[in-house]
Amino acid sequence: MDYAKLLENAYQRSPEPPDWLQPGRPVYVPNRGLGYVVDLLGRRILVAFGNEHCDLGDWQHALQQNQLLPPESAPQQSQLKVGNIGAPTFRALATHVQQQGILRDIQRSSARAATTDPIPSDLPESLKGALEQLGIDALYCHQAQALTAMRAGKDVCLATETSSGKTLAFALPLFEACLRDRDTSVLALWPLKALANDQLAKLHELNQLLPPEERLTVGIITGDTPIEERKPLLARRPHLLGMSPEVLQRALYATGRRDGGEWRDFLRRLRAVVADESHAYLATFGAGMKNLFRRLYRCVDAAGGSSERLQWAFASATIGNPSELAGTLAGRDPQRIQTLTQSGAAQAERTLLTLEATGDPNATAAELIAQCLQHGLTGIAFANNRSAIKRLLRRAQNRVARAGLDPSQIAIFHGSLKAERRRAILQQVATGRVGFVLGTQALELGIDISEFDVALLRGFPGSVMAAKQRIGRVGRSRAGLAIYIPSTHSPLDAYYRRFPEQLIAGNPEPIAIDSDHPATLGKHLLAGAAEAGIPSQQLAHYFGSAASTIAGGLLDQGELRLNQRGYYYAKSYLHKTISLRGNEQTRVAAFDTETGEELETLDAETARRELHPGAIYTTQNTGGGIANYRCRYLDEDAGKAELEPAPSDRSTNPDLTFEIDLQRTLKSASLTGMTLTLGWGRITESVTGYEVLQYRPEKQAPSPLGRVTFDAPYVTEFEAPILRLELDDSCIESCQKVAQSLREQLQREETEIPKAYEVLESASAGRIGLHSLGHQLLLGLPLAVLCNHHDLDFVTESPETSGLSGAFFDTIAGGSGSSEALFAYFGQVAARARELVEACDCEAGCPQCLVLPRCPEQNKALLKQLGGALLATLAPTDNRGAY
Ligand SMILES: [Zn+2]
Ligand SMILES: [Zn+2]
Repeated sequence: MDYAKLLENAYQRSPEPPDWLQPGRPVYVPNRGLGYVVDLLGRRILVAFGNEHCDLGDWQHALQQNQLLPPESAPQQSQLKVGNIGAPTFRALATHVQQQGILRDIQRSSARAATTDPIPSDLPESLKGALEQLGIDALYCHQAQALTAMRAGKDVCLATETSSGKTLAFALPLFEACLRDRDTSVLALWPLKALANDQLAKLHELNQLLPPEERLTVGIITGDTPIEERKPLLARRPHLLGMSPEVLQRALYATGRRDGGEWRDFLRRLRAVVADESHAYLATFGAGMKNLFRRLYRCVDAAGGSSERLQWAFASATIGNPSELAGTLAGRDPQRIQTLTQSGAAQAERTLLTLEATGDPNATAAELIAQCLQHGLTGIAFANNRSAIKRLLRRAQNRVARAGLDPSQIAIFHGSLKAERRRAILQQVATGRVGFVLGTQALELGIDISEFDVALLRGFPGSVMAAKQRIGRVGRSRAGLAIYIPSTHSPLDAYYRRFPEQLIAGNPEPIAIDSDHPATLGKHLLAGAAEAGIPSQQLAHYFGSAASTIAGGLLDQGELRLNQRGYYYAKSYLHKTISLRGNEQTRVAAFDTETGEELETLDAETARRELHPGAIYTTQNTGGGIANYRCRYLDEDAGKAELEPAPSDRSTNPDLTFEIDLQRTLKSASLTGMTLTLGWGRITESVTGYEVLQYRPEKQAPSPLGRVTFDAPYVTEFEAPILRLELDDSCIESCQKVAQSLREQLQREETEIPKAYEVLESASAGRIGLHSLGHQLLLGLPLAVLCNHHDLDFVTESPETSGLSGAFFDTIAGGSGSSEALFAYFGQVAARARELVEACDCEAGCPQCLVLPRCPEQNKALLKQLGGALLATLAPTDNRGAY
């Protein structure tokens, strides 16, 4: 026994636990459910779940990670019975899926009454009158709080749920400001055109209710507004101007132009900026928006206004870090921002059914749609992309027609529909002509659509944030039912099928943005210099501390110049080349040569990997079935690949080589047994040839048929953020120990060594551990941060020194913020990856916990247990792990 260590523990002062965390008291552990605290042993905590006692490790850490919560946080009655579901129609649907044997879980969140505050008596009379005409006699408390905060000069961030009256919450203080001082203007930004039109209509409505002589000038400019209408609108000196980010981006160029007087007048009067649906500004888009706002500040000051007195009104969906995101976008101290997350709006009861994953989620969804329509229930079904929606539409209409109902009651709704068509559908929903709407995320972005009875989630939408928005489409003013239909292949689908309570009670993911990538910042810096000039003394004030090195580089290249008055200026008009939403990469469309049908479009890099000549490509054909194609040729310049049908037992693997050249180190961190280095560098990916495989039913794995080597490789080269992960000797040793004990265990069992473990003989334990850890972190990433694991790749590197290293890198040039997000939230990602791995029932690794569809090393040298062992040292939050 180590007495010294024991004494050290005893002398260590433990912090006081919160009141609710005491022995004998109930606690809620999100992945385990309700339990009782058995004891607190210094920093450790023991919790009993039923008869099972668990050591949850450091309780402080668990509190920080939201893994230990007061019992009130538990979703109500997490093991509800079908018979307890109140509404008979909902009960009938639940009974139906139960009889099919696919009902996995029932969750319920209870109804909540509205909390309101009186309308402040000192609001302008005309505005009070308008509210009265709208039938509003009180404000929801979050609306009242937003009004108070904005009146006090604070920035506001409203992160309440869908349809909680966010528009009115910021409209009131802004209308008030314009009514009290008519030399005021407000800029409102929406990420989507359709949404901008929709929301501006609401502001128009409020404006029309003011007495004619007091009405404000309200207008909108989007990409669809003809140029000849834009100038007259500015000439009318608008109080409230709605814009799309792209239009603002180009409009800023007018700040420095001789004929830009009306625009400068608008900027001079500018007092507030509304950024609605600001959760859309993540990754590349977020970085672009932040830089756009930096330029806006500079232009406002240059036009004689004041960027310092600008007030922000952010409205976002429920995300993990609303104030941090608002602070980052606005470039302001989060202290200055009042964040409101508690909605005062009423909520009705919501029931969530989670189904088992079945082979054909579309069949399940189509069946449920038919049942809903038969029961007279209205509904909305979400799938994650347009082609999935179209397939579901066909299935559902067939199923509904067979039930003798009118299939045209089902309509499809997505962002690319023409505005008239969208309006027509909304109209038909309102009149009851359409009973079921199928959509993608377009509906999540706040577009007003009447309330539904049932929401179907066909597949997990990629984030808890989006799941909450989809579920939030039902159960507002009357009871609602949401049904989650997971698919079999996705690790995220599997995770939330296992932990469905997180869909209702879990914390949404934080959003990470890195706005200082040289490529992004450099472009915006030049644009800013071209718009209004940047005083050299204030470069860091406007563009952040990273700007000086970049400005230096741009001066060297002659792109940026310094004039005698000490202003940086640029001659070039770059605005057309700036894409706020990320690099518009070359796309390659894959065509079926026989039918001429376009099957899919891919970015050029993926096309080189998966659609090189000879590649076997598996995709879904129009019938919804899986089909194999062989690529005849790839024409990158024309953005086209021709495919022909191929035997279903064949597949190909590209031979890839990677060169990762980390040119600049930005940040680094030391963790238990490993080092992380975040930097910027060059990635060279070569597809040198491919291997052809044939699947034979009698064998476990496909067998190689041959190899093809190209005369010249298909090369992709780009610069992006890189995150290097180096393992220390201690980590390599622990991999070796786990490998050794696995070998011993296999020997003891004296059976033939299972295929999955053969890797132990062909690769070093450290390398297998590192590679597996890389995969598992990528699979865990979208559980912790809002992003997609396709945004990052991982390769192990050939070690030059004794250690072992691997590199994560962004898959698009310039990066999407994913490497940075992984660096910033590494601990959380590791914790979620560990849960994912441990919750998986497979023995040695499967697509849900280890195998990645696009592993550059073809998923060789992987073993679940070795990565799991490293995850356990990285995220030792509890000791129930099996490793
Ligand atoms: Zn697994
Ligand atoms: Zn890999």
